[in-house]
Amino acid sequence: MLNILRRIVQKVNAAKTLQVALEIIVQEVRVAMKTEVCSVFLFDDDENSYTLMASEGLNQSAIGMKLLRSEGLVGQVGLREEPINLEDAASHPKYRYLKESGEERFHAFLGVPIIHHRAILGVLVVQQQEVRFFDETEESFLITISAQLAGIIAHAEASGSLSRQETGSATKDTRFTGVAGAPGVAIGEAVVISPPAYLRSVPDRDADDIDVELQHLDRALKAVRKDMRETSNKLAPSLPREEMALFDVYLSMLDDSAIGAEVRAVIREGQWAQGALRQVIEEHVKNFEMMEDVYLRERAVDVRDLGRRVLAYLQEQDKRDVVYPDNSVLLSEELTPAMLGEIPRDKLVGLVSVKGSGNSHVAILARAMGVPTVMGAVDLPFTRLNAREVIIDGNLGRVYPLPSPELRGYYQEVVDQEKQFVAGLDVLRDKPCITKDQTRVSLWVNTGLMTDVARSLDRGAEGVGLYRTEVHFMIRERFPSESEQQKIYREQLQAFAPNPVTMRTLDIGGDKALSYFPIQEDNPFLGWRGIRVTLDHPEIFLVQVRAMLKASEGLNNLRIMLPMVSNVAEVEEALHLIHRAHGEVVSEGFDVKLPPIGVMIEVPAAIYLVKEFARRVDFLSVGSNDLTQYLLAVDRNNPRVAELYHSFHPAVLAALQSIVRDCKAEGAAISICGEMAGDPAAAILLLAMGYEVLSMNATNLPKIKWALRNVSTRWAKGLLDEVMTMDDAYVIQSCIELAMRKAGLSKVMVGTRAGAK
Ligand code: PEP
Ligand code: MG
Repeated sequence: MLNILRRIVQKVNAAKTLQVALEIIVQEVRVAMKTEVCSVFLFDDDENSYTLMASEGLNQSAIGMKLLRSEGLVGQVGLREEPINLEDAASHPKYRYLKESGEERFHAFLGVPIIHHRAILGVLVVQQQEVRFFDETEESFLITISAQLAGIIAHAEASGSLSRQETGSATKDTRFTGVAGAPGVAIGEAVVISPPAYLRSVPDRDADDIDVELQHLDRALKAVRKDMRETSNKLAPSLPREEMALFDVYLSMLDDSAIGAEVRAVIREGQWAQGALRQVIEEHVKNFEMMEDVYLRERAVDVRDLGRRVLAYLQEQDKRDVVYPDNSVLLSEELTPAMLGEIPRDKLVGLVSVKGSGNSHVAILARAMGVPTVMGAVDLPFTRLNAREVIIDGNLGRVYPLPSPELRGYYQEVVDQEKQFVAGLDVLRDKPCITKDQTRVSLWVNTGLMTDVARSLDRGAEGVGLYRTEVHFMIRERFPSESEQQKIYREQLQAFAPNPVTMRTLDIGGDKALSYFPIQEDNPFLGWRGIRVTLDHPEIFLVQVRAMLKASEGLNNLRIMLPMVSNVAEVEEALHLIHRAHGEVVSEGFDVKLPPIGVMIEVPAAIYLVKEFARRVDFLSVGSNDLTQYLLAVDRNNPRVAELYHSFHPAVLAALQSIVRDCKAEGAAISICGEMAGDPAAAILLLAMGYEVLSMNATNLPKIKWALRNVSTRWAKGLLDEVMTMDDAYVIQSCIELAMRKAGLSKVMVGTRAGAK
């Protein structure tokens, strides 16, 4: 069964259009299941109906016929989202005869839903003349094939609607859904960024000069052939003859008559060499993957490797800098902080990443920079979008390529409204954040890039609650030296002095990788991360702390914070190292006081150790991003489980309450620096719980100040009491939003998920 499944999936995968893919599905499934009919119906959300798209066994004149959402057995399968297996379809009360289909001859009916990301895409049906139930094996085969094909169908549907958009024959705007990354809307021109020698994400691009592209290709092929010959000569003495023959096969594949010729033909049609190479190699890879023979199938890896080698040489020759238009929307399979660093800020209006989720670190940086972002847009055919106009809706996590004038007009209004509201908040810059009943809340910022500093000061930040030192480590190619670090830290401390700056010691691991210090793990978020890495490498930790201490001389506004602590021993060990670094720095002649030291509460164990920690350190700060991830066991990076990641989950709220209570009981200072603090609805709950320092991205700070100045702590406490009796994160969210609207706070929801609904 597995072999049949694999073969069908590969064939469908290789289809060029959705229609061809569907035709392959019905042909193959009918043969595999030995049934008389196999048909596929696709659901159209806007029309609220199913269309018979392809069938083997029914009269072809029925193709294109429609059924309403709840009509017929197909409608029932969709509504119930489960298979329907009948020995005689016509005797079912919901049976609806499809005119002209010829289906009256068939009695046995089995329909299974095709579901992708919880949404019904369509229904796959098999039918037979005999009066009988399909057996369990048949049913499970159809369910399995439908589950496997759902992603491919979704992808093919997406590509198809994009093609219609390209040719102007689309009747509606195509929408790709991802996860809200950073709020706001952007209308701009797509710039597809592809990491070096990564074939899959090379974008399509028109060749500026076809002859030049052909020359590039010739040179690259020649260079790879030379490399292959050299490797083959080197290995000749140690490899058996059959293995050596493989090199000849590869060399001949690169020949002018094989892959080389095909790439050349695509270039002549106007595609640049790198894009043409991607098209041809991907095609060959697909063909190899479809082979029955395991050995031949595995050759797909070799073809991809060949392609990667040619690409590396093409990229070496074509080192033109990316030209960023004034309203660039960066698109990438996986956005990285380094990519953000390369584009001038004034040209960047939006970001889209196919991988990652709303709490991935790149999304956090994007929020800090105030750049609307969509993460996890898994079905987006991003390589086809370079230089195309796109709209991104960072509030709802949507991407619209090649928008219609109506859609553009609508979104332009949203952009203007948001700008107007934010501009109106300027007057609050120097006003304190104080509630109507006189509770004073300190609003601090989270920083990482140097550009955050100006934005933060501009928005009236009263301190830095989290300076993510790892960002500077991530955008380099080696560890920064002590003096380099000292200089960077000095700039931060000076910019905010006399206000406090909380510097977090290096927090790498998880989704924060250093190219020059690779960590390979199966479960990186549960592995070597944060304090665990730096305690194992005291040389890295000590250099960093020494640099921080030296940088603070004469300013005395440094606070040091430890990430990812899960036990008391880690805290004690880190304290010991910090004291040691302090002693060293003082003996070198620096006049620095030992700064306040704090820990982050971001793993579940830490919730129960708050009192222990509070007795040993000066302050605690809640990292609600990780705390939510670890408490709910939901990977903050995984778009598939993004719906489950919610900081209003009753368990997270209960933990936040317990932390603040235990911390206050010990008289230690408490703050929160996770993304929650920058969400107006969450800030109201945090105020009610007693958090007096909220640290957030600079972009949201004015909104939070406006919101908190317009409520009273008494009102917030009443709301907190109400939501603490509820058991569902989304219900809690709706309840707070409703209360905010009633209290006249709707304005603050513009540019948030709630406001966009
Ligand atoms: C957090 O986990 O909430 C936090 C502030 O740290 P980071 O997002 O950098 O992991
Ligand atoms: Mg964290």
